[in-house]
Amino acid sequence: MAFWSAEAIRKAAPQLSEQIQGGLFFPGTGHFLDPYQVVRELVRAAEANGVQFLKRQVLDACQEEHGVSLTTDQGALTARQVLIACGAHSAKLTAALTGKAVPLDTERGYHLMLPHEQHRLPFAVTSLERKFIMTPLSGGLRLAGTVEFAGLDRPANMQRAWQLHRLSQGLFRKDLSTQGATPWMGFRPSLPDSLPVIDRVCDARVLLAFGHQHLGLTQAAVTAEWVAELANGGQALRPYRLDRFY
Ligand SMILES: Cc1cc2nc3c(=O)[nH]c(=O)nc-3n(C[C@H](O)[C@H](O)[C@H](O)COP(=O)(O)OP(=O)(O)OC[C@H]3O[C@@H](n4cnc5c(N)ncnc54)[C@H](O)[C@@H]3O)c2cc1C
Repeated sequence: MAFWSAEAIRKAAPQLSEQIQGGLFFPGTGHFLDPYQVVRELVRAAEANGVQFLKRQVLDACQEEHGVSLTTDQGALTARQVLIACGAHSAKLTAALTGKAVPLDTERGYHLMLPHEQHRLPFAVTSLERKFIMTPLSGGLRLAGTVEFAGLDRPANMQRAWQLHRLSQGLFRKDLSTQGATPWMGFRPSLPDSLPVIDRVCDARVLLAFGHQHLGLTQAAVTAEWVAELANGGQALRPYRLDRFY
């Protein structure tokens, strides 16, 4: 990490306002330019390795003698082993299979995508005072942040996404354009101790991987490696086990 003077900031990111007097630069960081494209590539690679995807909503689940039975919106399925990785929606299926009420909540967050501001910043910039982040992606500049506790069912309050544009005002020499802007809300899956549940329960019939709060994308690859180990008989690590809550 390096401290940057106002002059250093002006040199690296000349579009930022001259009002900005200093900053912290974190070298060696990275971000995806197109998260959706990453998902599509993962699906393509998995299918090339023989994985079959079924797009169904799982409505209910119960244990059977040698596996798990699922009720879906398109009929029933049975499996020797299932993985619950439904993000903030994981509590209901976990309760159905384990009988445990996991204290999972959602920290709802918002972003505003500005398609005409793709080249405004050379790297992601966070405002410490205003507590939000501006990230250049291939489809535009994404302003993101905020935490809202409003559960899974309440409609999104997109005013919170537009508020991110107001927060950006004054941080640039010229205000960001909202032409063609699109607001979005997502459910961060969060647990009281900020750690995910990554576990193997019900005699190995059920694997669990959810609760990655603000860091689900960052921690996805490591979690996937652990899940593969658990599926092959590995033991869960104590801080991530479901029974830490009971
Ligand atoms: C505004 C915002 C900014 C963020 N920025 C970052 C960031 O910069 N870096 C980072 O690492 N993380 C970030 N996150 C957090 C990250 O998005 C989450 O941690 C991550 O998405 C959690 O991944 P997941 O796979 O557990 O859940 P999800 O991504 O929510 O995926 C769960 C999946 O399960 C499916 N599902 C749910 N219920 C069922 C059911 N009953 N049957 C079948 N399928 C079901 C859903 O359709 C969904 O596809 C951000 C979140 C928000 C809201």
